[in-house]
Amino acid sequence: MSANDKIVIALTKGRILEEVLPLFERAGIAPLEDIHKSRKLIFDTTVPNVQVMVIRGSDVPTYVEFGSADIGVVGKDLLMEYGSEGFYEPLDLRLATCRLMTAAPVGAAPVTGRVKVATKFANITRRYFAEQGIQIDLIKLNGALELAPSMGLADLIVDIVDSGNTLKANGLEPLDLIAPVSSRIIVNKAAMKMKHVIIKPLLQRLSDAVEASSRP
Ligand code: AMP
Repeated sequence: MSANDKIVIALTKGRILEEVLPLFERAGIAPLEDIHKSRKLIFDTTVPNVQVMVIRGSDVPTYVEFGSADIGVVGKDLLMEYGSEGFYEPLDLRLATCRLMTAAPVGAAPVTGRVKVATKFANITRRYFAEQGIQIDLIKLNGALELAPSMGLADLIVDIVDSGNTLKANGLEPLDLIAPVSSRIIVNKAAMKMKHVIIKPLLQRLSDAVEASSRP
């Protein structure tokens, strides 16, 4: 099989994977092994020329932009952070939905002057506050953002909110919506042209599965 008739799909591990695997199965694309029981990172699937790999969401855009993976599944939050110029984004899977929001300690008075904002999403946060005309000191963290305000590191955080329970458990409340988030399909630009014959029907199957799942 030449590289031109093989497709690699990069999936985001974790919460997105749990929701995306059933959708892929409905589209007729299922790994031949149990992904959760294997230490392998790349798997053959029920479609002979299609493999899936399972990686961190923040690495999915990189793999797809450089063409090591032809297709990716990744949250819109990470696409907004990474920038979307390097690939096409043809399909919203409407899964793993959540919101990118600002949050602050419950009842905190509005900050005057420069605002200290802790986040994993440095680019989104800089853009958002610049658009609001608010000057910030950005504090880049890689996790446990919810601790930053109570530890005196930040006035606000910018983070993913789903049920809001994580914020609440840490004495925080959501303030402003920056963007709604869901999982998206991205496609390498060259692969979309060169492997159109395989990719187009795959996208159609996934799109049909999304529509079927959305029906009441
Ligand atoms: P919750 O307590 O339900 O508001 O969930 C908040 C935490 O779960 C966040 O800090 C995120 O790290 C994570 N989370 C929730 N939904 C998603 C999602 N769709 N994609 C990625 N992370 C998520």
